[in-house]
Amino acid sequence: MVHEDWVDLPGMVSALIGTSAGTGVAVALGASEPERVARVADVVQEWWIEELWATSPTNWPPCPEHPDSHPLQAVVAVERAVWACPTGGRVHHEIGALPAVRT
Ligand SMILES: [Zn+2]
Repeated sequence: MVHEDWVDLPGMVSALIGTSAGTGVAVALGASEPERVARVADVVQEWWIEELWATSPTNWPPCPEHPDSHPLQAVVAVERAVWACPTGGRVHHEIGALPAVRT
């Protein structure tokens, strides 16, 4: 991730993801920490899927309830940034608690 303010708005910070300038993430400084973490995780997950779909599984992190259907979704639940099932809403992991994926 490269810190480059591509959004020139007060109260926002932004960065570019990856080596090609294709994906950017911006978060509001006034948002809560869980909201900022979930926002960045959501954009990084989207970048991951688009960037690596040809060579890596695109369902990371996989939903334990529906491993062949969809990845988990980054959300805020009870003031925590978590990975949850996008269909049932069940929380499965804290964001940042999963081990790194090797490609
Ligand atoms: Zn699910």
